[in-house]
Amino acid sequence: MNEFELIEKYFTRPAKRAKLGVGDDCAIITPTGDMELAVTTDTLISGRHFFPFVDPRKLGHKALAVNLSDLAAMGATPRYFTLALSLPKADPEWLQEFARGLFSLADSFHCELIGGDTVCGPLSITITALGELRRPFALRRDHARVGDDIWISGELGDAALALRVLNKQAKLSESEFAYVANRLEQPLPRVALGTALRPLAHAAIDISDGLIGDLKHVLKRSGVGAEVWLDRIPVSPVMSGQPLEMQFQCALAGGDDYELCFTARPENRRDIEAAGQSVGVRLTQVGQIVVGDTLQLLDKNGQPAQVVLQSFDHFA
Ligand code: ADP
Ligand code: MG
Repeated sequence: MNEFELIEKYFTRPAKRAKLGVGDDCAIITPTGDMELAVTTDTLISGRHFFPFVDPRKLGHKALAVNLSDLAAMGATPRYFTLALSLPKADPEWLQEFARGLFSLADSFHCELIGGDTVCGPLSITITALGELRRPFALRRDHARVGDDIWISGELGDAALALRVLNKQAKLSESEFAYVANRLEQPLPRVALGTALRPLAHAAIDISDGLIGDLKHVLKRSGVGAEVWLDRIPVSPVMSGQPLEMQFQCALAGGDDYELCFTARPENRRDIEAAGQSVGVRLTQVGQIVVGDTLQLLDKNGQPAQVVLQSFDHFA
């Protein structure tokens, strides 16, 4: 199978929304009405972002999911994506499964593959996703305001806990591990939540490198500080069975959650809770935006909590 047969067989489907899809030098797309385009890119590298032996179907899902999560964090509706693949060899079984995982998530969000690149090399996957936004409602990192509530979707830390089990730093029962492994390998991007929050929230970010590290990006860009209440951090039943220190490390500084952290006026609490219910996602208020430039962790008595955390950084 040569490069072009591979593209034709696994990654070429008739164009739908796109004017021109896979097969020419460029794809051609027309944005809907007067919508703006939100564009994001994420790369997954074997041995760094996933284990080389990971199920290719789950890898196909995750490679797209992490990009759709970025679109969700802006409140954008996914429309198109491109796929740059570096593969050590053209393994039909692997490609079949990878494409299955990829397209199954893509189809569920009506997000269309419109092009890419395929080369022979160490396994890595780069996806660029494009979404549409009705101006002026992008959920930007620099729009948090003093007095805003800080909210989290879903539950934090399960993916980091799964990674610790895989690295033999924690132990779980088989069914507990199955639950957290699924959170690590098949995150569900919070797209419906992101669009529902567009008129309700000020700022948002998706949590990919740990709540604390990612919330700090919002604080810095917005020129504000935050108080976060440790006893409010939402965790799963599996996580709550772990020692407190493990819970804090995973939920506050673990990676790969792909939940949304957003800020909004207290007046919007009811509407936000209703939005969470309508899209079926648990939402928890975990703190408040304050004057300043620091992130203060508070214990259940409102006292500063002493926890030492390390967020992930590729170059640190
Ligand atoms: P060019 O040489 O003009 O860059 P290529 O030969 O790399 O084009 O690719 C041929 C066509 O196949 C292009 O339309 C490109 O977007 C598409 N393509 C290549 N690799 C992929 C892939 N992994 N997924 C989807 N489309 C791809
Ligand atoms: Mg060309």
